[in-house]
Amino acid sequence: MNYLTGANLLLTLNCLFLIINTIKHNQTMSRSIKQIINSIEQAEGAGARVRRSIGIMSNRKFNPFLLFDHFSGTGENGFPEHPHKGQETISYMLTGAMAHEDFTGSKGVIYPGDLQFMTAGKGVVHSEMPIPNADGSPVAGLQLWVDLPDQIKDSPPRYRDLKEWEIPEVVQQDGKLTVKVISGTSYGVQSLKDLAYTPVHYFHYIMKPGATFKQELETGFNYFLYIFKGNNLVLNGDTTTKQYQSVFLNDDGNHITGEVHDTKDAENVEFVLIGGQVLDQEVVQYGPFVASSREKIQSAFSDYQYARNGFENVKNWKTLISNGVTKEMVNGPLKGSLEEREKERLAYLNNKSD
Ligand code: MN
Repeated sequence: MNYLTGANLLLTLNCLFLIINTIKHNQTMSRSIKQIINSIEQAEGAGARVRRSIGIMSNRKFNPFLLFDHFSGTGENGFPEHPHKGQETISYMLTGAMAHEDFTGSKGVIYPGDLQFMTAGKGVVHSEMPIPNADGSPVAGLQLWVDLPDQIKDSPPRYRDLKEWEIPEVVQQDGKLTVKVISGTSYGVQSLKDLAYTPVHYFHYIMKPGATFKQELETGFNYFLYIFKGNNLVLNGDTTTKQYQSVFLNDDGNHITGEVHDTKDAENVEFVLIGGQVLDQEVVQYGPFVASSREKIQSAFSDYQYARNGFENVKNWKTLISNGVTKEMVNGPLKGSLEEREKERLAYLNNKSD
């Protein structure tokens, strides 16, 4: 072996070592933080309020997500009839209940802890209105808009309701950590499958002081967290976050960790951790219309205006709930009474134990 070959061998070995180390490092690396947004309350719909952290000037989109709102409304202040096209919306009720109806005749009530996955596909027009609380307190929840893969953008509208009792829960650390596994896998617990067309992970974390967490994350997915309750969640050991912040992560690791220190003024922290498979496609968005080109957006507008190509029902549809939801509507056409709901829950639990 001459000197040059020896040096080459050493260089090759060094390179190999570096590659192996890089792989090892990535396998155990926390995702770094890309951006933190303080979501500020703004007016939306008819008198409703939203804290928005995707779909704003400083964060137009976060592939595959187009919008993320923490909404609240009372009485008649909600989201009366409006269209959607080319996307899916995922609504998660936090407090109070919301009624919905659309121009295909589909209607119902979403209670706290429930979700609705709605594929707008080629087009839907609907209303989302709060059911007024007796004490006048607001009805609040989270709404996420997810882009649809181009090849299924023109699919017919579809719903998937996910009831609170269908969501598996992880309880760890003597009850200090609870995870509601809405979509995906957390601590080995798996959710129901095929809730949305675009693969989405959705976890609701509830942490008491002294709790820690580690969530595995999938490569090729973009993830963010939104803290809707509590302060002083420390992420990756060094970043302290607070209520109403959205934390966007880079795709540079395979997990995220966090803790709530057990200090004198510590409080419970609740957040959602949401991920979506990145879609490699053009996105042209104009309000609630999403398409892959400007031309397609223009035709979406005229289709809606002239009630054609999926928007035919606009012509004859009369909204029931847009001016406010009454008890009679809930117990009648919306089939959303608490008795009805309890029957449904018991039927589900009976089925499960069979
Ligand atoms: Mn809507």
